[in-house]
Amino acid sequence: MIIVMKADVLPESPEVAEVVRVAERYPNVRAEVRKIQGATRVLTEVYLLGSTSSIPLEPFEEMAAVEKAIRIREKYRAIGRHEGQVESVGFEYNGVGFTQDNFHVFAGLCAVDSPRNTEEMFRALKGVGLTTTRAGAYKPRTSPYDFQGHGKDCLPYVFELAGKYSIKIIAMEVTHESHVDEIREALKASGNATGVMLQIGTRNAQNFELLKAVGMQHDFPVMFKRGMGITLDESLNACEYLATGGNHRIVFCLRGMKTNLGDPHRNFVDFAHVPVVKRLTRLPVCIDPSHAVGKKTLAPDGILDIAHTTAQGIIAGANLVLVDFHPKPDEALCDGPQALLLKELEPFLRDCALVRKAYEERQRLYATA
Ligand code: PEP
Ligand code: MN
Repeated sequence: MIIVMKADVLPESPEVAEVVRVAERYPNVRAEVRKIQGATRVLTEVYLLGSTSSIPLEPFEEMAAVEKAIRIREKYRAIGRHEGQVESVGFEYNGVGFTQDNFHVFAGLCAVDSPRNTEEMFRALKGVGLTTTRAGAYKPRTSPYDFQGHGKDCLPYVFELAGKYSIKIIAMEVTHESHVDEIREALKASGNATGVMLQIGTRNAQNFELLKAVGMQHDFPVMFKRGMGITLDESLNACEYLATGGNHRIVFCLRGMKTNLGDPHRNFVDFAHVPVVKRLTRLPVCIDPSHAVGKKTLAPDGILDIAHTTAQGIIAGANLVLVDFHPKPDEALCDGPQALLLKELEPFLRDCALVRKAYEERQRLYATA
């Protein structure tokens, strides 16, 4: 059950304490207070967990500071959008807000290879005014003979350069919980020069111990990448592990499904699920056109498949785009064939803005139709 407080009722207010007191009078019920950053206001919600099925709604609904009491479905208890929860919610991290209504591009290196390429990448981002990027230090590779990422060795220069070029958030995959500590320590040593959004890669989508560990830390938000060979329901349940650990700062990322029905693309593009994930959950939704398409093929209309695919996700309401760039894709140690060139960054962003505007116009059209 969720008790939604009226606007401006803060988590630490006596009204919220009263809701918790009333709730915890029932046996085996625990109350968790959550502060939720909405698109227009901060919301306080009290989640009642445990044996809540026999608790009546009325005692809560009658309280003056309560807006409504909602009985939640069994499914996606923590990340789900439950009946009556119409507000778009999200979170803020390092000065950047994420909701189902806004839009960000995380353009950058699939894998960090050298200080020079990292600096060139970050300089290009600053040149176009981007403060969000990707930079992989821990790379899960199909073959053990392939480059595995520089790991913690590269973190000092990555964070220092991020600070130098005003990067606020780096999306960075972790494949083991010890990586979270390494990132935390390196960030601290850099004087917290930047922020990190931890990425759970598609190959770890059902690594439940990793999900629990990343869910239990509250320093970093998480980008969860949909499992490439499991159902959407299974991926959402996996994501639920992050939230039940208490970390609600989650972005859900679509990155294509592994099936040769997607050939000649690397994965079968699943961006039609952008509105589905927005309906089932209140998480901001990201698309990764680079890992979905996997190559830089050009369509006869002069537009890259990656750009077409990006547009498909944005026109459907995606909130983030995670996309690979590299100063010299031929020399990239991971996923060079799908990396866009730095000179393609500016037109790519213009394309994104164009399609985002079209999406917003579509929203207005249907709102007034
Ligand atoms: C990545 O983003 O670098 C990556 C490995 O993606 P995925 O987990 O979606 O394959
Ligand atoms: Mn990659």
